[in-house]
Amino acid sequence: MQTQACDVLVVGGGPAGSTCAWQLRQAGLDVLVMDKHTFPRDKVCAGWITPAVVASLGLDLDDYAAGRALQPIRGFRIGTIRGAEANIRYDAAVSFGIRRCEFDDYLLRRSMARLALGESVKSMVRDQGAWLVNGRFRTKLVVGAGGNFCPVARLLGVDREEGEAIVVAQETEFRVPARGRGESGPGADVAQIYFCPDLKGYGWCFPKGDYLNVGLGREDTHRLSEHVEQFRGWLQQRGAIPDELPGRFCGHAYVLYTESRRRLLDDGVILIGDAAGLAYPRSGEGIRPAIESALIAATIIRDAAGNYSRANLAPYAERLAHRFGDRKPEREAAAWLPQRLRHFLAAKLLATKWFTRNVVVDRWFLHSGQRPMVPGPRAAE
Ligand SMILES: Cc1cc2nc3c(=O)[nH]c(=O)nc-3n(C[C@H](O)[C@H](O)[C@H](O)COP(=O)(O)OP(=O)(O)OC[C@H]3O[C@@H](n4cnc5c(N)ncnc54)[C@H](O)[C@@H]3O)c2cc1C
Repeated sequence: MQTQACDVLVVGGGPAGSTCAWQLRQAGLDVLVMDKHTFPRDKVCAGWITPAVVASLGLDLDDYAAGRALQPIRGFRIGTIRGAEANIRYDAAVSFGIRRCEFDDYLLRRSMARLALGESVKSMVRDQGAWLVNGRFRTKLVVGAGGNFCPVARLLGVDREEGEAIVVAQETEFRVPARGRGESGPGADVAQIYFCPDLKGYGWCFPKGDYLNVGLGREDTHRLSEHVEQFRGWLQQRGAIPDELPGRFCGHAYVLYTESRRRLLDDGVILIGDAAGLAYPRSGEGIRPAIESALIAATIIRDAAGNYSRANLAPYAERLAHRFGDRKPEREAAAWLPQRLRHFLAAKLLATKWFTRNVVVDRWFLHSGQRPMVPGPRAAE
């Protein structure tokens, strides 16, 4: 079999991999992206991105929206499942609904990297100072961007032995023309978020043009399907979704940044996105950290100028810590209160406009206090 050489091999063509490839191509490197799927492919995800993601990707929204779903979100309905809820509005779009099958394909094609699609990483061995992947790709640097179950992350292992707590989630996406959703609904530009009564997760109903994405994620891995079924039944009872859903719920898992123990780099290897375990605690948003980590990694790789020793890649870990903080589990607020009282108080807070707007949406979901990272040679914060 003939060997193909490239400067950098990116494993995984999701938002992390395609963003890193895009930036490295702009710096003149020969980049090859390998993905086990052919594109367009779907990815289990609610498909919600913030304006920070749009800025970090330098997305031209008019170009993107030509023939693709792009739903500006200007309002939220937030509460607890079967509990009280609050409606909040914004003057401008604070979020966008995209379809991952379209978004990921768009970003991957835009990267201008060479593509090896429909090929899974089967082997990765060191050979004469380089990596030999699948016996046919030779490179000095492998970027692991293969998501939560990335084979490159598995090769690197974890930093500590106690393991990682994962978030598990299921979603389904189906076509419901916006005008067929009934007058009583919250409106085509409103995202609905409902926390589980035990506060260990939340369900969502997210519009994107003629599509709806419905799902639920939890930090507790037990009986997820039961929680999803109950949430689906409740949404159907209140007429928020059709009685018959055309597709089934699909699941996936990921690691929150504060829980992650992944080893981020080694000689000739660096992890980005879900492969590095970077999703935001509380919201579980992973696309923004995937893209920001890709921008940071691209800067470090460029500066390394072909010498991808562990020492030369080490500033990547420092810059991630600077951007996202320490990797240690968050202490639950008011942990000293009895659990039932905490849940009771939380349900009350989740029904107030002040808390849902300033804390839940602005702080937990939009991270509006954190300025977007801009692409370019220094990936400035
Ligand atoms: C139900 C659910 C809802 C979510 N909703 C949101 C949301 O609304 N907004 C948000 O910001 N985040 C959301 N997330 C998180 C978000 O989906 C991820 O954080 C994001 O996709 C990470 O991007 P990535 O590029 O790191 O990995 P991925 O998007 O997972 O891409 C990894 C790629 O690697 C490829 N790959 C995997 N293994 C191999 C292999 N062995 N060989 C070759 N290729 C391989 C895969 O095919 C895939 O294309 C959600 C997650 C779940 C589970």
